[in-house]
Amino acid sequence: MIQATSLKNPQDSHQTGVIVVGAGPIGLELGVALRRAGVDFQIIDAGSVGHTMSWWAPQTRWFSSNERIAIAGVPLTTEDQTKATRETYLNYLRGICTQFDLPIKTHSRVVGVRGQRGEFVLDVDINHTEGSNHISTTQQWCCEKIVLAIGGTDFPNRLNIPGSDLPHVDGYLREPHRYFGRRVLVIGGRNSAIEAALRLHHAGAHVSLSYRGETLPEQSIKYWMLPEIKGLLASGRIVDLVGSVPTQINAESVQLRRLADDQLLEVPADDVLSLIGYGQDKRLFRGAGVELTGEMQRPVFDENTMETNVPGIYVAGTAVAGTQSSKYKTFLENCHVHVGRIVDHMGLHQAGDFVQLRAANSPAYESMAKEQPES
Ligand code: NAP
Repeated sequence: MIQATSLKNPQDSHQTGVIVVGAGPIGLELGVALRRAGVDFQIIDAGSVGHTMSWWAPQTRWFSSNERIAIAGVPLTTEDQTKATRETYLNYLRGICTQFDLPIKTHSRVVGVRGQRGEFVLDVDINHTEGSNHISTTQQWCCEKIVLAIGGTDFPNRLNIPGSDLPHVDGYLREPHRYFGRRVLVIGGRNSAIEAALRLHHAGAHVSLSYRGETLPEQSIKYWMLPEIKGLLASGRIVDLVGSVPTQINAESVQLRRLADDQLLEVPADDVLSLIGYGQDKRLFRGAGVELTGEMQRPVFDENTMETNVPGIYVAGTAVAGTQSSKYKTFLENCHVHVGRIVDHMGLHQAGDFVQLRAANSPAYESMAKEQPES
């Protein structure tokens, strides 16, 4: 059984057996497994529970079916049998935290990891307000083992052209209502860009879509959105700028270069949505000594145990994939299996009735890991 690590420096210090960094679905699912095993643990997240979904636009619907994103064996159902929205899913995650009494520190950023297996020390920056004062303090957390379930979409990719840092250029789709009546240029050609273009068109924005390929990457666009975007582009209700690359962003327009003839176009735009993918924050991996490899800078880990090259530090969830740039292959639904592998390697399968309760090791989760994701 994992015990809390003893403290060497008691000043604003805390101790526990396992620290899970990240309160996304897989971090929480692991928390439930640790709770069921009777382990002393703590979940710490720089943002809120399910932080990635908290920046999705309101009422965004998951592409994945409910049973594939349900965690810890707790059913996720919707009143109308459709896929869950952001709000439904965040509500579900809060329910899981309450049901299993998960110890979670939110808005607390792990900024440093020191030590070795059995005696790690984490520096955690905590931000809070007292009255009108914003206060930042640092805590130390000691533990035996660490699981980094930190996701892979920490920041939107940037265009790096003149004007790309202007305030009306955004890497996130916000509340669609705010774009009503505005001229919005959406840049990108896969699911985020297409979903945004459709939603903003229906919210009464004047949408143009610029994509750097000669034609839309139809194989990469969800089948339910493809006919609609093709129809709206063909009819001109969404302005078709497929086959163009942005070269400069101005306060009220964007200059684009048309690939077919190298002609420069000036497209009016009050808002620019640059939906060109997301990157992973590597600082925690690097600071903890976890090796990163390949173009996507994936953490180095053992597929069977999820332990990284640093003994006692594990990785779980979509964090395993690094920065997924060209084609996304790692999703929540093929990461449930990580939980079972980690608790097995920690030797927790001995614990009481835990074996029967450990949903993440069930045959259903094993087969889900091999199926077509996001469906
Ligand atoms: P993505 O699949 O990485 O697509 C990025 C797009 O930006 C691609 O079309 C890419 O062009 C283009 N691009 C990249 N760099 C560029 C540059 N420098 N200049 C111009 N264009 C550039 O990212 P995503 O669309 O955000 O999707 C990420 C994942 O989230 C996918 O798995 C997607 O299905 C998922 N998603 C889920 C939901 C949901 O559940 N509701 C919603 C949206 C997205 P190329 O095509 O030429 O590479």
